[in-house]
Order: sequence, then structure tokens, then C-alpha cells
Amino acid sequence: MELRIRNLSKTYANGVVALDNISLDIPSGMFGLLGPNGAGKSTLMRTLATLQECDTGSVFFGDVDVLDEKDEVRRLLGYLPQDFGVYPKVTAYEMLDHFAVLKGLSSRARRREVVDGLLQQTNLFDVRNQRLGTFSGGMRQRFGIAQALLGDPKLIIVDEPTAGLDPQERVRFHNLLSDIGDERTVILSTHIVSDVADLCANMAIINKGHLLVAGPTQQLVDDVSCKIWARIVDKRELSAFQQRHNVISTRLLSGRTLIHVYSDHDPGDGFEEAIGDLEDLYFATITGRHNPSDNCD
Ligand code: ADP
Repeated sequence: MELRIRNLSKTYANGVVALDNISLDIPSGMFGLLGPNGAGKSTLMRTLATLQECDTGSVFFGDVDVLDEKDEVRRLLGYLPQDFGVYPKVTAYEMLDHFAVLKGLSSRARRREVVDGLLQQTNLFDVRNQRLGTFSGGMRQRFGIAQALLGDPKLIIVDEPTAGLDPQERVRFHNLLSDIGDERTVILSTHIVSDVADLCANMAIINKGHLLVAGPTQQLVDDVSCKIWARIVDKRELSAFQQRHNVISTRLLSGRTLIHVYSDHDPGDGFEEAIGDLEDLYFATITGRHNPSDNCD
């Protein structure tokens, strides 16, 4: 089912404009919402999860008015918040069983079936009797997905789920997300470009409350692919290059500095054509170098 967001705005009491007239269509499957810290991602996620009011705008999930029919949304929704806390002394099984009761699963036998199934799906069955306080970050996040999947939600929102996971745990978590994204609408909010590159067929970039680009990930990357130029420079030369060119990213490579610049034509100066990727799209967009109307046709 598609989520339709129209003209959504939110200004906090301190005057911070967290969402500025956001309009966005989110199709089913995995959708990546990418933006730096402070972009407004959590504000948007909490609003969609019915936990926070916005000032103006509308959101529909199919026929359901998300901002108005909150109880109905909660029946359709699974949410893994950014700061998902667990009771450290309770076991994974006990906690999930408790959440299942709260979700209205009153039959003990049915609950056992559902809870065991979710623990298996998230690869936690073998550790189901361990206390949550002993879980690693990755196990905790997989447990977070297990609780989000209770009630077979059609809309799943996960807010910054891979921050702090080691590379192996991240791969495991990605596999789990990609499995659950097949028949549902899953919104993955993150500042980590590779989360979106690995998982999401569709995406958007937001910054400072503004929607900058949205669409199929591959198409957005194609639009930037012919505009990226690369060269290795000496650290001491970096600021001179930054003055002469549209530098969008700098990265250390074996102790030297690899810079990417955004340019419609060959910038000269020893640059070579690079094939732009999602990271280039991201940096070119949030630095204001790239517009959605620019493409490589
Ligand atoms: P992100 O999830 O992308 O990091 P947030 O939605 O958390 O972004 O924050 C967007 C902006 O709103 C930031 O400038 C943040 O400081 C501000 N903000 C978030 N929550 C509050 C709040 N409760 N009161 C005031 N400002 C807030």
C-alpha cells in the first residue's frame, strides 16, 4: 500500500522548523529516508507513527487518514524507534510475550506460536531465555524488529536502526530487513548511505526540514553518474582545490586524500571521470550542488 504525504510541516516551540512543507509518495517495499543528523527524519517518523502532532498537512496510507484515524494506524503499524529501550532483567521471550498481550493476543497457545515464530525469524530463538541486558547491539535491534512485526503490520517504520552496529551485525540486520520488506511498506530512516544503497529501491533525501530529492534509487543515482570527477590530492593542496572546484566529498585513501567534485564538464586540473554512486548523489544534494531536474540525458 502507498503512503501519501502532503504539505507536512512542523515547527517546534523553540522555533526550529523540523519539517517544511514535505510532500512525498512512499510506495510499498523498502523506502530509504536519508538525511544528516537534525534533518527532520525522526520528527517525520514519529508523526507517521502517530506519536507526535504536526502543524499542517495530511498523510494517507491507502484509505486510512494517518493523522486522524490513529487507532486504525496503530493496528497497521510496526515501529522501531531510534531509542528503543528494553527491560534488562527480562528475557527476550518474556518481553515479546508481554508485547503480544498488549497487541491483543489473548490466547496463550496462539501467542506462543506467534512469539516463537518471530524469535525464529529474527534469529533469536536460541537466546530466547537470555535476559535482554546481555544482548549485543545487533541482537537488541533484531529484537526490536521482532516486536515491530507483532500483529503482522502493513507499515513498518525503523528509525536509525544500524547506528552503532558492527559490520557483521549490520549485514545480518540488512538481511532481516530485506526479508520483511517484500510485502509491506517499510520506511528506513538513516544517515548511513550504504543502508539505503543496499536495501531500498526507492528513497528520498531530506535536510533542514526540506525534501531535496525523491524517487527510484537507481534513477536518482543515474542522474548524477556523469557529473562526478575524482582525483587524489596532497593534504596541503586540499583547500586550494576546494576554492577552485565544487568539492562534494573528501576521503582518505591509503593516507592520501581522494576528492570528488561535481561538474557538468571536465573540470581539468588532473581530474578523471568517476562513476557517481549514491554517496555522490547524497553529498551533491545536501551541499546544494545537485538539483532533481539535473540529469545525464
Ligand atoms: P533527525 O532525526 O534527522 O536527526 P530530528 O527530527 O530529530 O532530526 O530533528 C530535527 C530538528 O528539530 C533538529 O534541529 C532538532 O534539534 C529539532 N528538534 C527535534 N525534537 C525537538 C523538540 N522536541 N523540541 C525542539 N526541537 C526539536
